[in-house]
Amino acid sequence: MHTDARTLENGALLEGDLCIVGAGASGITIARELANSNLKVLLLEGGGFDFDPQMQELYRGDIIGKPYYPLQAAALHFFGGTTNHWAGWCSTYEPIDFEKRDWVPHSGWPIRREDLDPFYARAQNVLELGPYKYDAADWKNDDPDRVPLLNDSHVVWTKMWQFSPPTRFGQKYRSEIVNSANVHLYTHANVVEVEANDGLTAVQSVRARGFDGRELRARAKRFVLACHTIQNARLLLASNRQARTGLGNGNDLVGRYFMEHFEMPAGELAVANPRTTKTKLYQLAFPGNTPRGELALSPSAQKEHRILNGTASVEPGDPADQVQGTFQFIDTAMITAMRKWELGGKKGPPPIAIALAGRAPRASGPPRFFHLTTRQEQAPNPDSRVTLSTEKDALGMPRVRLDWQMTELDKRSMRTFYEVLGREMGRTGTGRVQIRDWLLSDDRSWPSFISGGWHHMGTTRMSADPKEGVVDANCRVHGLANLYIGGAAVYPTAGAVNPTLTLVALSLRLADHLKTTGPW
Ligand SMILES: Cc1cc2nc3c(=O)[nH]c(=O)nc-3n(C[C@H](O)[C@H](O)[C@H](O)COP(=O)(O)OP(=O)(O)OC[C@H]3O[C@@H](n4cnc5c(N)ncnc54)[C@H](O)[C@@H]3O)c2cc1C
Repeated sequence: MHTDARTLENGALLEGDLCIVGAGASGITIARELANSNLKVLLLEGGGFDFDPQMQELYRGDIIGKPYYPLQAAALHFFGGTTNHWAGWCSTYEPIDFEKRDWVPHSGWPIRREDLDPFYARAQNVLELGPYKYDAADWKNDDPDRVPLLNDSHVVWTKMWQFSPPTRFGQKYRSEIVNSANVHLYTHANVVEVEANDGLTAVQSVRARGFDGRELRARAKRFVLACHTIQNARLLLASNRQARTGLGNGNDLVGRYFMEHFEMPAGELAVANPRTTKTKLYQLAFPGNTPRGELALSPSAQKEHRILNGTASVEPGDPADQVQGTFQFIDTAMITAMRKWELGGKKGPPPIAIALAGRAPRASGPPRFFHLTTRQEQAPNPDSRVTLSTEKDALGMPRVRLDWQMTELDKRSMRTFYEVLGREMGRTGTGRVQIRDWLLSDDRSWPSFISGGWHHMGTTRMSADPKEGVVDANCRVHGLANLYIGGAAVYPTAGAVNPTLTLVALSLRLADHLKTTGPW
């Protein structure tokens, strides 16, 4: 069922069993899992079915830390959420990503990788990813030319990726949601406050507001906030009428530990014997479903060198073409496309995927030189955070301020990665690695623009101990009996690879938890 909330009377009261706020990758996944159950599910989406500049403007915020993409371009505010323009790159987090690493402050999840394994396999289908195979050896069986660059190393291994079409949740799953008998989707229902009981032990309702000032309330037995990392934190912090510092924020942790993935051109690789060295495994066939490998360091190498997890993509290119690193180019293209798109008032996703596919460097014949582009987790950092601004948006909600900050461990890890990789390439006679100048400078200095992957994580991190995080291992906000968070906001650490496969897996796990536990 679907209702445009603008057609409701001011003061309307909606009642259900479960109320999900936000219909993006996480919210739609949870709603689909609960479709055809006995539960009445309210799915409140702030936007409509299409891009609307007025709605998107609600995401604008201040960047007060390291330079970052404009927030109103870094996530999308309509049905389907940011999957309306995501690129579809997917891979699984590794067991080490969930572990407490003594060299990474604030690391460690209260769940292990094996807890997510069955949900990863299911998430693979949700994202239309093909077979659940992330071992390079499996792909070699299909095509003997797909061989890792370093086959026998215990230091370097090949991490596999797969590519979603990319699944646009708003298009792919719209009719399933709208035609569901027990899921009631309300569009244009922008939630501006989460309301708790007097004792602040449970949530009673959420309050939504339209541009014309009309309001509605939704009451339910349980609630899930699935508004994306920055907006989830904003909503909790802005719900400060009853709890002065915001709901779930008794330990001043909501909004902290904001993390991104560094995606930065960092080095060059010259292979020793281009005629016989096969690099097919690493080549990008995008868009499409062809798997692709990236170079990664083993868990033991990460431990030995006390560094973060990361990978390097291997893109054929001219060695003189250093400044035009692939991801620098991608970021520029994306920002330009987003701005043009906004200024032109166009609807629908911008043609970023087409732009990338058309302009990505191509090699003719066996390539010898490759650009190495880092993809690395950012160390969890309490000073990297989202807070509220004094400025309000058109609905009267405080805007956000993003103070994105990094640590010396972030940069040292990136440089050490290439030093170790270079040694392995030399030792095995595979090739030589050159590290870019910016990475050789001291660990506190960064280039003028630090390129992130448009991946927002942290802000309501998961922890067993309420003093160390905002949600528990089931994504329930510590201290609030019936409030859950969906999405990458709950990640305590960022993992080396893109977040959406993992957040869909976690959303499936949360849906199972909601289905199988009461009270209903
Ligand atoms: C350019 C770009 C490329 C990307 N490429 C990749 C990639 O290749 N691989 C990858 O893994 N990830 C990628 N991502 C990230 C990916 O898009 C996100 O991880 C994912 O969409 C997050 O899902 P979500 O459900 O948490 O948030 P969203 O998908 O953003 O959904 C949140 C929903 O909540 C709604 N909402 C927000 N606030 C409110 C409110 N107050 N009331 C009601 N509703 C609200 C929004 O309108 C939206 O529909 C990319 C992101 C960008 C920007």
